[in-house]
Amino acid sequence: MQLKLPLATRADAGAWARATWRSNRRDFLWVTALFGLATVTGLAGPQILGHLVEEVASGSGTRGVDVLALVFAALLLGQALLKKVARVRAGVLGERVLARTREEFVAGTLRLPLGTVEAAGTGDLLTRATSDVERIDVAVRRAAPEMLIAATTVTLTVVAMIVTSPLLALGLLVAVPVLVLPTRWYWRRSPATIERMLQRWSDVQSATHETAEGARTAEALGLAGRRVARGEAGLQAAVGGERELRKLQLRWLPWLELAHALPVAAMVLLGGFAYGQGWVELGTITTMVLYVQALAVPLDELLWWFEDLAVAGTALRRVLGVRTPVVARAAGPAPRGRDIELRGVRFGYAADRPVLHDIDLRIPRGQRLAVVGPSGAGKSTLGRLLAGIAAPGAGSVTIGGAEVSALPEDVLRGEVLLLTQEQHVFAGTLRENLTLPARPGGGEFRDRELLDALTAVGARDWAAALPEGLDTRLAGVNRIPAAIAQQLALARVVLADPHALVLDEATSLLDVTSARELERTLARVLAGRTVIAIAHRLHTAAAADRVAVLEDGRISELGSHAELLAAGGPYARLVRAAS
Ligand code: ATP
Repeated sequence: MQLKLPLATRADAGAWARATWRSNRRDFLWVTALFGLATVTGLAGPQILGHLVEEVASGSGTRGVDVLALVFAALLLGQALLKKVARVRAGVLGERVLARTREEFVAGTLRLPLGTVEAAGTGDLLTRATSDVERIDVAVRRAAPEMLIAATTVTLTVVAMIVTSPLLALGLLVAVPVLVLPTRWYWRRSPATIERMLQRWSDVQSATHETAEGARTAEALGLAGRRVARGEAGLQAAVGGERELRKLQLRWLPWLELAHALPVAAMVLLGGFAYGQGWVELGTITTMVLYVQALAVPLDELLWWFEDLAVAGTALRRVLGVRTPVVARAAGPAPRGRDIELRGVRFGYAADRPVLHDIDLRIPRGQRLAVVGPSGAGKSTLGRLLAGIAAPGAGSVTIGGAEVSALPEDVLRGEVLLLTQEQHVFAGTLRENLTLPARPGGGEFRDRELLDALTAVGARDWAAALPEGLDTRLAGVNRIPAAIAQQLALARVVLADPHALVLDEATSLLDVTSARELERTLARVLAGRTVIAIAHRLHTAAAADRVAVLEDGRISELGSHAELLAAGGPYARLVRAAS
């Protein structure tokens, strides 16, 4: 089953919100004050119109009416200006918050153990990095400010109504049950529905990404129809998720419409009655009806943006989720020595399908061990366990007595590195590509060190032909031949200088002569390092100190090239078959 990356808890999201508030308190207060001021300015409008009605009803001259009309226009202008400034400041604040969220996401992603990323697939990560961050973007830059304006307007309008006429303001109470009960009902159901919906969209993106990556294979095997069907099924599920959310909203929204229609009716009825009793003036009723009608727009705004905010809340938990360790690495003891030892190691990707069975192996410091065997025997799996990417199901894999999979990432990478045949060249300069690993001992790599590493992997001539040498921009993996990408990856390893190295067919893309040459040079550069080379080509095994033959998840033979040839067992048969 595919591993799902975790979702941060609501408490985590709350802690994030509090931290964001603390580090931007001043700006938040400014934005709120500006929106509040704009709203207060807007609230004076109905008061002035109420006075206008009084003026006209009392039959006094046009001068007072003119002045009131002018003040009304000036207030409208002032309100528009204040809103504009508040929106700009809110936008700037939103961008800052978003930039921090993005940085945290990238940092969290880079800290994820490789095994977790592999098991979860890159699709989910991509969705979190793109669609989910975009959802937060909409919420932070647009929904939050608009909702802040709307909420401030609603609150201050209600306060103004209570101040203007507490009696007529009682009409608002009819909206309370209609608003509160259905909203509580919706709030209880919507988070789980939104979570499901976002996960399904993430599945769609993962499947699309996988199809695009494996397009050639799918085409060659005639799997296009199956991939399309899978994509369609995913889309149907995602649309189903959207539909579930809409269904919830369809049952909730009519109550909200009712919540702002009912008080208008109540206010008119109550106003008519109170006017008949001589308790209120006509102007007051006008002001109150204008106020209650003015509530409709911000309430609609609140509803309009509410969904975006709720969806962004879940998206935030998905984005923050990459910071949550899937399986916490328990801090184990530090290595005391460099010998690698496997004891009673068993491993399977699925519980009912063991891949490695009871492996016992000791690799003394500085030894070169070649692992050979038929395809599917478990060689790469063994390499992953040696590099601490996966932990054994039973038994132990240790370096200097310390469990490899329990070592903290930074310690682990200095101890043992795994290099496979899949290598990526990043869109950056050659220097940037080479200096991805931290320099052992700290500081910057010197040009001499970089050039020596390129020489060690046989890429010096290629690099010398580049127009700007180490500072030439490499345009990404597509324009760099795969063999060069492999050499650059090996150069990175030379620079990272780990104590032990697992090479999983790391020279497979080079031709036989270049591979031999490279392995000879590497052997010199890596002298004294423990090297475990998983090899298809048997010349690699011939040059190793010892050879382990892996068959069906078990070590069937172990010894030097010469010993195993003389024994005439599986290794000798492999060599005969190869020649
Ligand atoms: P090859 O020489 O073809 O690379 P190998 O000896 O390296 O093969 P592994 O890649 O370790 O063998 O695979 C051993 C078994 O584990 C195979 O049956 C393979 O299908 C299975 N396997 C490998 N990787 C995974 C995975 N990520 N999930 C599930 N099963 C896997």
